[in-house]
Amino acid sequence: MLTITLPDGAKREFPGPVSGAELAASIGPGLAKAALAIKFDGKVRDLATVIASDAKVEIVTRTHPDALDLIRHDAAHVMAEAIQELFPGTQITFGPATETGYYYDFHRAEPFTPEDFAAIEQRMKEIVDRDEKITREVVSRDEAVKRFKDLGETFKAEWVKEIPADEDISLYHQGKWFDLCTGPHLPSTGKLGKAFKLMKVAGAYWRGDANNPQLQRVYGTAWADEKQLKDYLTQLEEAEKRDHRRLGREMNLFHQQEEAVGSVFWHPKGWRLYRKLETYIRRRLELNGYQEVKTPQILDRSFWEKSGHWEKFREAMFVIPDDEHKDKQLALKPMNCPGHVQIFRQGLKSYRDLPIRLAEFGACHRNEPSGALHGIMRVRAFTQDDAHIFCTEDQIVDETKAFCDFLLSVYKDFGFDDVRVKFSDRPEKRAGADAIWDKAEDALKTATTAAGLQFTLNPGEGAFYGPKLEFVLRDTIGRDWQCGTLQADFVLPERLDAAYVGEDGQKHRPVMLHRAIFGSLERFVGILIEHHAGKFPLWLAPTQAVVCPIVSDCEPYAKEVVRQLTAAGLVVETDFRNEKINYKVREHSLAKTPVIIAVGKRDEEAGTVAIRRLGEEGQKTFALADAVAALAEEAKSPLDRA
Ligand code: ZN
Repeated sequence: MLTITLPDGAKREFPGPVSGAELAASIGPGLAKAALAIKFDGKVRDLATVIASDAKVEIVTRTHPDALDLIRHDAAHVMAEAIQELFPGTQITFGPATETGYYYDFHRAEPFTPEDFAAIEQRMKEIVDRDEKITREVVSRDEAVKRFKDLGETFKAEWVKEIPADEDISLYHQGKWFDLCTGPHLPSTGKLGKAFKLMKVAGAYWRGDANNPQLQRVYGTAWADEKQLKDYLTQLEEAEKRDHRRLGREMNLFHQQEEAVGSVFWHPKGWRLYRKLETYIRRRLELNGYQEVKTPQILDRSFWEKSGHWEKFREAMFVIPDDEHKDKQLALKPMNCPGHVQIFRQGLKSYRDLPIRLAEFGACHRNEPSGALHGIMRVRAFTQDDAHIFCTEDQIVDETKAFCDFLLSVYKDFGFDDVRVKFSDRPEKRAGADAIWDKAEDALKTATTAAGLQFTLNPGEGAFYGPKLEFVLRDTIGRDWQCGTLQADFVLPERLDAAYVGEDGQKHRPVMLHRAIFGSLERFVGILIEHHAGKFPLWLAPTQAVVCPIVSDCEPYAKEVVRQLTAAGLVVETDFRNEKINYKVREHSLAKTPVIIAVGKRDEEAGTVAIRRLGEEGQKTFALADAVAALAEEAKSPLDRA
């Protein structure tokens, strides 16, 4: 007798081994049709897999969290089959699923172009209609080499040849086509559905090595149904419109150039935006009991060796020779943490001094590979809104709770209400006693829940030095951005000998809470630009209004309007160019200036202004004093509002 337990706890008995397909069919014909795969022992497997002993089994259907991976991996196979049918002589290599789809690397003399996509998609749909059975075959290594060689698949043959001779090779067949693959796969091509689309083609090298032959990587996206595909394509289109690199240029906020890869040239307007964030968070930090510090940019190699960064982080660090002491090396700081410990270590600390919260706008450098860089979202030179809280184990709950509240109210002020939390607990390899881990993990969970946040668990994903919380924002078009973090650390205080005198008169190690809310200011500015599509609320807009006289003899009055608005605290530009008002409106709209104020002769006589809001048709006339008062109120930082 074999007992299968289903996710709802229901049990089913079978006289002997049973396949996933048989199990699904025994539950009902609907499920038999919907089943794509099964999952047990934490692994997704082919529907044809035979379950030979008692197990807890899930039937994977299109709505299962693991279904997309299966669908995408199959889409890669179906695309490869379609391409080989359409373009004989093309060789296959590898094609994995990605976060939003899949890709497959091909070798072919002529380039693929987007013009080929429609034909490839059409053939893929035909393969889906053919509903080819997908089967797994296990062969010896040498047999697999022979089969690929016979087909002229030299890349695959080369790859398989390097697998140990005694290892079994699994091949997945669909129709006449097959590929080397560990699986799992759908039961047939018909189950793939047609919610896929080819996206782009790019260059790649065989085995990622530039000395090897060049391959063509064809990217596609694939989803469980048409609606998901459509939503994704709409999101991409929206993201394209909001791209911070484009808006950064159109709004004249910043630029980047090749001589400073991964760094930002902030223009006056962009820097005003950046400083708004800085000013805002600085005041919030002061109100929340943090003290701001500044630590050195360049420190000796020996310092990084002591902190452990030289060993664990060396590749990401910019190292500089020391011309005066040839035997020495210096490094730009990639993190602020060890610097803050140095400040903590000055003078004897007592338990009465704790918690000590040290904050820094920490300018860090990390040598990210150029391929990973992305506008101002991922850079090599960035500034963290970093802080370290030195506290006792008993203070972790209160400090974490206070931090969660702090973070949520900051996000709210910047227009983010949808915040998710990921909680990563102890990894297998870790420092610190289990008792401290118990305490810290409990503290983080308790505090998060007390702050009204729900978390999802990332088991075993914590840092080796302590558990961590990651705070994820969802933007207006549904994209997730991990910004804030809080990590408990039992190791660095030990390594760098930070201590305080406890109530018992003995020396104790403080716990260090590493925490950030924006993450990096550069990236957060980028996220804000994309979230708001450049149309910032008035308090955040780097230029809040522009005053345009309609005729040149209104200039003195226009200047008076500017004077009054500036005195009320607004950042205002003027546009005295000899251009038509419609032309000016178009230009300032493109620059996303929220308020365009036109003044004409009649306004001057009546003491009024005509206000046009970004994105709205038409304008409204107000008495100047009323307009100034209303705009000044609206432009107040959330911190200055009652
Ligand atoms: Zn830190």
